[in-house]
Amino acid sequence: MYKTSWMTSDILSRLNANAGMLLVRSLWDYCPEHMFIVRVEGPAEFVIEAMNPTRRAMLGDESSFVGKRIEQLLPHPMCHGVIANLSRCVECGSPIRYEEKGGYIDRNGIRQQGHWQTLLVPITNQEGAVTHLFGVSRDMSLLPEQPLGASPESKEFERRVHERTAELVAANEQLTHLATHDYLTDLYNRRYLMELAELELRRVSRYDQSLCLMMLDIDHFKGINDLEGHLVGDEALRSVARTILATVRECDLVGRYGGDEFLILMPETTADGAREIAERLCRTLSQSTRFTISVGIASLEPDDQFVVDLIHRADTMLLQAKRNGRNRIECAG
Ligand code: GH3
Ligand code: MG
Repeated sequence: MYKTSWMTSDILSRLNANAGMLLVRSLWDYCPEHMFIVRVEGPAEFVIEAMNPTRRAMLGDESSFVGKRIEQLLPHPMCHGVIANLSRCVECGSPIRYEEKGGYIDRNGIRQQGHWQTLLVPITNQEGAVTHLFGVSRDMSLLPEQPLGASPESKEFERRVHERTAELVAANEQLTHLATHDYLTDLYNRRYLMELAELELRRVSRYDQSLCLMMLDIDHFKGINDLEGHLVGDEALRSVARTILATVRECDLVGRYGGDEFLILMPETTADGAREIAERLCRTLSQSTRFTISVGIASLEPDDQFVVDLIHRADTMLLQAKRNGRNRIECAG
């Protein structure tokens, strides 16, 4: 794993790893600019490691580039200029920008004249050595000569850039939602809920506040699938999820833990407060659905380090509620 300053920038650090990967992936796949990664093998030795689809569309089959040295790919005066810029970026260890003009061979084997504006970003390993360079190049010959906004063509170009950017932002938001929510109930999925819960646990511990975790499981849920089919079972899970959301506070975190089990993390809530919410939830569910639930509650203790410590106790309480006849609430401690 390489460590770069842009990866730890604020917005990316707020994304979970999966959403971060999806963001990088969609940028790589859909960005209209040329992107490439070069491996650093020596002060002036660089090997192409990857090119995004935009660059491949211009240059052709990736296999004729990947693994090749710059001097094997570019005609002479141009390759010296490119290598000089790559070396400069390695040497200074921070991003650089430059413009260059020169010939290249396109995917149809035709020699073309290029005018590029390039941003190079060094990627370092744990020891701080630059192992790769990430590059983004814009083909300046595609841009109109006049400043943007001056002609109808450039206005159209600008409009398309805005449109495409909006599409990318919307696609990324959708991908992030898919990666963090349960597809059936639209509650947080287990992995994301755990991530949020760990942050919440750190926060309440720092400020010495209370925190409760409620684990609930629908009673005899298998019966509904067996008797009425899985689609009816699915709709029942969705209606339980809606009822939970309508009953708890906005600051409570609600997720589907798996199957017919749900987790609710309640910050700044004591065991008594959590029991009250659980009773209200049981009442509302029995009025608005045909289900009863069993509930296990655990409250934060001084020795708890991770959310699993709370989950373990809530799970034990849930099991006890089932053993004691279901449709009941058991609270640890
Ligand atoms: P108990 O009172 O002991 O909890 O009995 P139960 O029948 O609810 O048993 P359990 O909680 O172990 O079973 C949960 C069932 O939920 C098993 C599985 O068929 C069903 N289930 C899990 N995920 C889904 C889903 O996404 N859709 C539907 N329709 N059913 C699911
Ligand atoms: Mg169940």
